[in-house]
Amino acid sequence: MTRVRLSISIALFALFVSLASILPAAAPAQIYLPGAEPAIPPKDTTLTIRVSRLAPGVYAAKLSYVWTGWVELPDGILVIDSGMADSAGVALADTIRARSPNKPFKYLVLTHAHDDHILGAKPFLSAGATLVAHESLVHDIDSTLGIPGNPSKEIGIRDHKRFGTALRPVDVVWLGRRADSRGDLIVHLPKQKVLFAGDLVWNKSIPWLLDPDFDKLGWYASLDSLMSPRYAANVLVPGHGLIAKPGEGIRFTRNYIRDADDKATRLAGWGQTLAEPRRWGYLGPYEGMEFYQEVHFMNMKRLLAEAKGVKTKGRAKVRAMRQ
Ligand SMILES: [Zn+2]
Repeated sequence: MTRVRLSISIALFALFVSLASILPAAAPAQIYLPGAEPAIPPKDTTLTIRVSRLAPGVYAAKLSYVWTGWVELPDGILVIDSGMADSAGVALADTIRARSPNKPFKYLVLTHAHDDHILGAKPFLSAGATLVAHESLVHDIDSTLGIPGNPSKEIGIRDHKRFGTALRPVDVVWLGRRADSRGDLIVHLPKQKVLFAGDLVWNKSIPWLLDPDFDKLGWYASLDSLMSPRYAANVLVPGHGLIAKPGEGIRFTRNYIRDADDKATRLAGWGQTLAEPRRWGYLGPYEGMEFYQEVHFMNMKRLLAEAKGVKTKGRAKVRAMRQ
């Protein structure tokens, strides 16, 4: 009898546990006094860092919306991009120290010069890391960071440079064309088969086509290069969006640029004016994706202008994105 009661209690408890896991948790409500609703919703300024271990000694870390990463070398850490602010750089440095302890920051590779990738650089540079960037961008990066140039602690990449060891080589490469910007570097680990693509690749996130040096054809050519066996990888870390197999992110980026440009070209042929891009610039399959509201319509306006033969200056600062 006792055993029967016990099994009934166990069954009831199990039912309770399974129900509890099915029922949704109460959502926290945001309540404002009547008439006090802010015209602009409050910004979420909490920095979240998500770390993925991709291979022994190789990590990717997403700082809110931007991907960074690091590789353990025998003599220190090679960091890839630094996030959007000093505070983000400090948090990333702490995250790296916690997972790869007792190693100095040896190199900081900045894949390009956009604010959301470089403004967290100072904590690494002041800890002694050597700055690595495309040779045409080193000076710009110094002036954006407000630091004096230091040639003994800077490496300008002309085409490529190999870091690391024979067991864990790390290739930092410029693919030879302007694309997302003037000097987009990739970081490829041929043995571990990991590719950090910087902003050459966006996956389920709307690419920024607004850099003054944006070059559509150069971007397609760079994506072709990334598909070649030379850069074979099992996993690709994009600048923004989702980590995936390389083909997925590369195809997404190419398809978005092509779809947006095809629409702009068609509209230019019909005499569409540049005013009110939110009325004519929608692109159904991409609606609701990260940065669709913030970036996509500016992209469309620029592509339409170019399709009409109007040269555009672009935007030197990535201000439209969340800070
Ligand atoms: Zn970016």
